[in-house]
Formats: sequence, structure tokens, C-alpha cells
Amino acid sequence: MVPQPAEESLLEGLKGLPGLKVKLNEPLAPYTSIKIGGPVDYFLEVADRVSLSRTLELLHRHAVPFCLLGKGSNVLVSDRGVRGAVLRLGREFNQAIWTEKNGAVVALVGAAYSVSRLVREAARRGYSGLEFAEGIPGSVGGALVMNAGAHGSEIERIVDRVEGVTARGETVGLRRGQMLFTYRSSNLPPGTIVTRVHLRLAKDQAEAVSSRVRELVARRKKSQPSGYPNSGSMFRNPPGDFAGRLIEAAGLKGKRIGRAEISERHGNFILNLGGAKAEEVRGLMEMARAEVRARFGVELEPEVRLLGEWPEENKSEA
Ligand SMILES: Cc1cc2nc3c(=O)[nH]c(=O)nc-3n(C[C@H](O)[C@H](O)[C@H](O)COP(=O)(O)OP(=O)(O)OC[C@H]3O[C@@H](n4cnc5c(N)ncnc54)[C@H](O)[C@@H]3O)c2cc1C
Repeated sequence: MVPQPAEESLLEGLKGLPGLKVKLNEPLAPYTSIKIGGPVDYFLEVADRVSLSRTLELLHRHAVPFCLLGKGSNVLVSDRGVRGAVLRLGREFNQAIWTEKNGAVVALVGAAYSVSRLVREAARRGYSGLEFAEGIPGSVGGALVMNAGAHGSEIERIVDRVEGVTARGETVGLRRGQMLFTYRSSNLPPGTIVTRVHLRLAKDQAEAVSSRVRELVARRKKSQPSGYPNSGSMFRNPPGDFAGRLIEAAGLKGKRIGRAEISERHGNFILNLGGAKAEEVRGLMEMARAEVRARFGVELEPEVRLLGEWPEENKSEA
């Protein structure tokens, strides 16, 4: 959507902000792991905390809705795209500072830092606690917001403190005791953008940490599909069961709508076989929910976050 005259002052304001890159009508598919999604009106990449706060203040003054995109590995963006702004964190948020004192290790990690890179770096230094996160293809901010986990562990176990900003651009800090982590959620106040996370790790032998990482990589390779773009698990596991098991038991592995397919390998993964539409992925999700509900009386809840404009019945969570 090209900005109308009334919006020009917003655009001028955005373009005048140092440390901010502005793109108009930017397609979002390339910024997601499943490679699906229409354009956003304003795609804004902020280089540092000052530009982040100023951008948020400006968006607030103009009543422009926004959402934050990390590495896009747990989102499904609608084919119609996103109205308003999508923010991405740039340079300053892509750094990690490691400190070690009396056997205690603290990593101060920018929210845009890649989880895989962090796991590799911790292993190289002989720091333990992050092994479970190998293979989670998101950013540290996304992992914190989603309380990402695997192999019986979650990021909440190693989080000490979170730095962020409110939707109006004010700085906030949350200590561990002030946060409420639950399964695949950190329940942060709505609109909070995570800018930096303080992680507490333990000193260990580099070879021991690397060997545990290798073992978990091998486990992941056995169970997860590879080759086609996807968003990881589409549904949360219901209490005491697995969404993938239920979808498989409902006979839905391999089902296709258009160019989207429920993986033959893992029922909780939907693959983009090339050129799939968000609507096709939504269609498979609805099919899985309806079948699992009808056969087993279980209501599957999406884990993936829906962003953007959807037909009325599929309203966005963004
Ligand atoms: C192949 C594959 C395997 C996966 N395996 C796992 C797994 O084992 N365990 C697991 O838990 N997940 C897994 N995932 C899902 C995903 O990688 C995680 O949820 C990850 O933590 C999301 O991070 P992201 O940066 O990609 O977030 P995005 O997908 O970009 O965003 C997810 C949500 O977090 C919000 N968000 C992101 N960054 C910030 C921030 N800095 N501040 C505020 N809000 C923010 C977004 O607005 C959005 O609502 C997998 C995904 C794939 C594709």
C-alpha cells in the first residue's frame, strides 16, 4: 500500500530518524523460515536502542500498529500481508558479551543474535546450559518470547534478566522473579520488545559440551523433516500427548492443499513444497484441528504465531 498524503508526515518522520532503514511494501516471505507471506506497509530495521525507542514513539503518535519479527521461524504471515509496521532489530542487537567470575558464567545477548550461533559459541568456550537449543533456528529474542525448548529443557531455566522496551519506547528491565514462563510463552506485558537477555550458564569442558550438542543434533535429524521450508511445530502439544502423534493417528500425514503438505515424517510440521500460500497452510491447520477434534476430542492450539490480515474467522493474533 503506497502511503497516502495524510501519512506523508509519518514517512518523513521515519526517514529522518538516524539508525533506521525504511522499506515500503516489503514482501515478508524472504524473512520467514517457511518462505510465505505478503507485503508489509512499513518494514523498519532499527540499528540500536535509541532508534528503536524513537521509532516506537513515532508509530505511537501516528497510531500505527506494529509487530516485531525475529528470524521468522515461528510465524505464518498472511498472503495479504501486514498493515502497519514490522520491526526488525539490527546491528546493536546482534552482539553477545561473555563474562566469567568464580565459576559463574553470564552471557549478555542481544535479541537479534542467532540461537544456533550462541549454542556453538557457548560450546566452543566450554559453557554448558544451552545444548538443548541446538537446531532451534530463531533469534534469542524470539526464543525468550516463545520460551523455546527441546529435549525436556526450556530457555527459562537459564534466563536471569530481560531488557526491553514498551510499545511506547520506554526502557524496561525484568528480573527472573518478575517473569512468568509457561509452555511456549514468557507472558511478557503486551507490546514489550525484548532487546537483550542475560543468561546464566555453567563452566564445563568444551569437548563435553560439544559432544552433548552433537548427540542432540543427531536426535533431531532422526525425527524432523528437512529439505522443504517450514515453521517448525505448527501446534502446541496438548497436556500428556503430542500434536504430531494425534495428527498422524488421524491419518493426515502426507495430506496436501495446493503446494502445502503435512510432513510424511512428522505430523506437526507443514512443508512449503514451493510456492505454497498462507491460506493453504491455514487450510491444512484447520483440517488437522477438525480431524483431531472429531476423532479424539482434543482441541489443538496453534504454536505458530499468525501475523497480518486474515479472513474474518482467522483473525490475526499480531
Ligand atoms: C525447523 C524448525 C525447528 C524448530 N524447533 C523448535 C524447537 O525445538 N523448540 C522450539 O521451542 N521452537 C522450535 N522452532 C520454532 C522457532 O524456531 C522458535 O519458536 C524460535 O524461538 C522463534 O524465534 P524467531 O526469532 O524466529 O521468532 P519469530 O518467528 O520471528 O517470532 C515469533 C514470535 O516472537 C515475537 N518476537 C520475536 N522476537 C521478539 C523480540 N525481540 N521481542 C518481542 N517479540 C519478539 C514475534 O513478534 C512473534 O510473535 C522451530 C522452528 C523451525 C522452523
